[in-house]
Amino acid sequence: MELDYIIVGQGICGTFLSWNLMKAGKKVLVIDDDQPFSSTKVASGVINPVTGRRIVRTWEIDKLLPFAKEAYTALGNELSVSLVRQCNILDFHPTPQMELAFRDRLVEEKEYLRIPTDQDQWKYYFNYPFSIGEIDPCLLLDLHSLLREWRKKLALENALLSTRFEWVDCSIENEQVIYKDQHASKIIFCEGSEGIDNRYFNLLPYARNKGEAIIASIPGLPRDNIYKQGINLVPWQDDLWWIGSTYDWNFTDLLPTADFRRKVQTQLYHWLKLPFEIVDHIASERPANMERRPFAGLHPVHQTVGLFNGMGTKGCSLSPYFAKQFTDYLLYQTPMEPLVDVNRFKKILSR
Ligand SMILES: Cc1cc2nc3c(=O)[nH]c(=O)nc-3n(C[C@H](O)[C@H](O)[C@H](O)COP(=O)(O)OP(=O)(O)OC[C@H]3O[C@@H](n4cnc5c(N)ncnc54)[C@H](O)[C@@H]3O)c2cc1C
Repeated sequence: MELDYIIVGQGICGTFLSWNLMKAGKKVLVIDDDQPFSSTKVASGVINPVTGRRIVRTWEIDKLLPFAKEAYTALGNELSVSLVRQCNILDFHPTPQMELAFRDRLVEEKEYLRIPTDQDQWKYYFNYPFSIGEIDPCLLLDLHSLLREWRKKLALENALLSTRFEWVDCSIENEQVIYKDQHASKIIFCEGSEGIDNRYFNLLPYARNKGEAIIASIPGLPRDNIYKQGINLVPWQDDLWWIGSTYDWNFTDLLPTADFRRKVQTQLYHWLKLPFEIVDHIASERPANMERRPFAGLHPVHQTVGLFNGMGTKGCSLSPYFAKQFTDYLLYQTPMEPLVDVNRFKKILSR
């Protein structure tokens, strides 16, 4: 079969890229080996517009957040599943200093921060000596339904190869990609953290980052908010809660650690008044990089090969927007945001 694109990887990046290209009428084949602990499967699925101790807006969030809301809604409608809802973060300040920092920041940041008027509303569920701030709006995504339902759709359209991509089966020559018996004009890699070893893009400044989460049952805790105090309690699939996370830059394996589990348990015993039961403990690697900006585009030398990766901690907000931008570049040569275009590494990638 003559294809326009082969896409390797169906995490959030491969999902949005294949959706955009197929919507534009392109013939696509997605190759994905369905790893159980990919970054997208372990992620909590939160789009939080502010970040850090200084509570500043994340990069380009005023564009990314409304775009993401529309994209998840549109894709959800197409797949007959609800993928996005507003779910604000309630920030239980752990110290008087953090409380003050939030109040100070509120003077300038009125769009995304506020202080709930009824501060006692959560006393039944949590112990908290200081006040609560609210981050509003935040979005919560159902990433598992997104991956599962889009995968089903790909399979129905004969656009999925549920297997591992192996280089021995692939040859790239004369502006054509041949993968087993498939021929395509281009191949785009969306392999997440495995992209670090991609033979065309392994010189990019990736930075390995591990994150863990506890999955717990907390019967009776209202599911209309995300609760934060050092750790985040996020409503997850099957009426469970996702609790995390860590940002580990030095690690030797991707296994869950006893240390993190202990920390979460201790924190919950102090903070949460309701009983809880831990049912799982998961970990994955974020496809992070030193610049904290995505990598998207065609290889500066080998134009048959492309990349959509490097989403780091923010794949949920970055991937819908830049998948569309990358698609427009592929179809109409519309220039991409220079800070995202992989062409910014032309010198390194031309070696
Ligand atoms: C603990 C944790 C919490 C997070 N929370 C959030 C959050 O709340 N909000 C947010 O925006 N981001 C969050 N992230 C980051 C987010 O998960 C990533 O930015 C995003 O999921 C990356 O998506 P991806 O498609 O690039 O990679 P992945 O999701 O890893 O997808 C890559 C896919 O490629 C497949 N693959 C790889 N190599 C091959 C091969 N050779 N052959 C076939 N298939 C292959 C894999 O099986 C996988 O399906 C979190 C990450 C972690 C670890």
